This record gives sequence, C-alpha cells and structure tokens, in this order.
Amino acid sequence: MTRLGGDSPQLKKLKAGDVLNMRIVSGRLEELTYAIDEMRTLSVRRRGVGYESITLSAAFERRQAESVGRIRSSLFADGRKAGMSNRMILEFADIFGYDIDFAQDLQEGDRFAVIYEDIFKDGRKLREGDILAAEFTSQGKTYRAVRFVDASGRAGYYTPAGESLRKAFTRTPVDFARISSGFNLKRRHPILNIIRAHKGVDYAAATGTPVHTTGDGKIEFAGRKSGYGNVIVVRHSGNNQTLYAHLSRFKPGVRVGSKVRQGQIIGFVGSSGLATAPHLHYEFLVNGLHKNPITVTLPRALPLSAQSLAQFRTLTAPLIAKIDALDDGNVASSR
Ligand SMILES: [Zn+2]
Repeated sequence: MTRLGGDSPQLKKLKAGDVLNMRIVSGRLEELTYAIDEMRTLSVRRRGVGYESITLSAAFERRQAESVGRIRSSLFADGRKAGMSNRMILEFADIFGYDIDFAQDLQEGDRFAVIYEDIFKDGRKLREGDILAAEFTSQGKTYRAVRFVDASGRAGYYTPAGESLRKAFTRTPVDFARISSGFNLKRRHPILNIIRAHKGVDYAAATGTPVHTTGDGKIEFAGRKSGYGNVIVVRHSGNNQTLYAHLSRFKPGVRVGSKVRQGQIIGFVGSSGLATAPHLHYEFLVNGLHKNPITVTLPRALPLSAQSLAQFRTLTAPLIAKIDALDDGNVASSR
C-alpha cells in the first residue's frame, strides 16, 4: 500500500497514537484514511482489484482579526485582556524590540493595536497565524509595523515606508553573559602586563556556551591566530566586520566563504589563545576601524529594493489604513 505513490509512503512513518480510519465491507478493506497533518488527509480507496491513493487538502481559510488595548499594568497583562495569546504578545514585543524596551519604557495609557490572521479549517478556528500589522503609541510617538515577505521568501516587519524594523546587527553575540572587560584603548593587559588597547568587549561565559553571529554575512576567516586563539571573522554588508575570539571550537560547517545569518551559532566560548578564563572576545569594525560594540550605532537591516518597494506598498497599504482606523472600542472585535 505504501507503493501506491503520491503521499502513500507516509504510512511507513506511522507513530504510536496516530489514527487510521478504515472502512471494511464484507471483510475487505474499502477505504483507509490517515490525517498526515492538519491540512492534508491521505485516502486510500479500493478500485477494482487494486487500490489508489489520493491526498485531500482541507478547505482552510485565513481571516483577519484584531486586538486593541491600553497599558494599565504591563504589555503581558493588558495584551491578554485585549484577547492576545502569550505567543502573540511575545511576537509583538519582538517586532518593536529594537525601538521599545517593554520592560522599562512603558507608560500607563500607552496604546497597542494588532491585526493578525486566524486560520480556520472546515469553518473551525485551527490556530493563530502571523501578526500582519502592529502599532504602538507611547508618549505621543507612534511606531508601526507591517509584515512583508520579500523576493527571497524571507518574512520581516517593516515601517510603512519600507524600512526594516530589524537592525542589521544584534548587540551581543552570547546570551545571558556578563561583560568582564569593556572596550578600552588604554587597558593594562592581564597576562602581558603592558598597556595595550582592548579593542573589543569580553563576555564571561562557561566554556561551550554558543556564540551567535550578530549580523548576516560571510565567514572571512575561521582558524587560529596567535593571541586570539580560535577566531572567526565575519564580513557584513556596509564594510562592517565582526570578530569572535578565544573559541573552544567552531560549529561544524562554518568555513571560509560560508554564509551566515544573524543569530546563527558559529562557535562556542572557550579560552584558546591568550585568555585567563573562558570568555568571548568580540570586536566590531567599520571600514577596518575598531568601534566600541556596546555604543556603536547599529545600522538598520538593508531596506527593500526599489522593485520590492512597489509591491510592498500595494500589499501593505490596506493593512496600514485598517490599523490606523482601529479605535479602542474595537477590542478583539472580529472573533
Ligand atoms: Zn578581550
């Protein structure tokens, strides 16, 4: 039966708990159905002396819904009150994450609005889809975001003018790490005991802690370099480079010329080279000059190309108009 073609080999992947429905007439199998996933059902039917396999796609539709609210206590509490799910609140905070610190910057009365998709299957709500547009107003300033999938298929959030809301770089390459030594051009080196500029930032972290590239780019160097130990240099657009030193090891597959995306793991914290304890030494260079990674102005991700921009405007204009028209009385109205 798994040789019937189409999706029939799916029947080889059955797991405990999967449900097969069978219709048996006079001891003979007439039809077997199996839900491959929430959208597809495999149906095997008797046809003459043999069987044929077809895949049925569920009729599903996307409906727009919205939530609007004001901050009384926290984005989380007030988002829930406005009908947003936990996942959606986190996504909302993430969309504006570079501009607004939702733990620190909130004021009572700040306003939030989202338009999102609900996915329905056979007339029943299956799950939430993506946030399509989001708006946040704080102290008279309004931030807006709309979702757009670019020509390469990458989804992102943009301002109504088509600027990416994502920064081209994240600030830190290791999660939950403590800065053990800052950028200092007159530092006394702990091992060499001489004044030697510290042209980067050190993050103390346990050996083996993952190191993420802070921006999209291409691996320019991955290998050993005396004092740096195991070091990776990533070349980014706009003549920027980032450097990650004292690694214990490289992530398999990271080699010169390979492309990396922001947030991708490229190696692991260690103490190779001239290091007193496990830490990541991180440098940020602009046109070959060292900048303080903590204070350097991080560029926005590349804006949309002129060609994408026209398409972006056509697709997002109705959403922007819609979110602008939402008022507080509209809370979670389209359910
Ligand atoms: Zn250092």
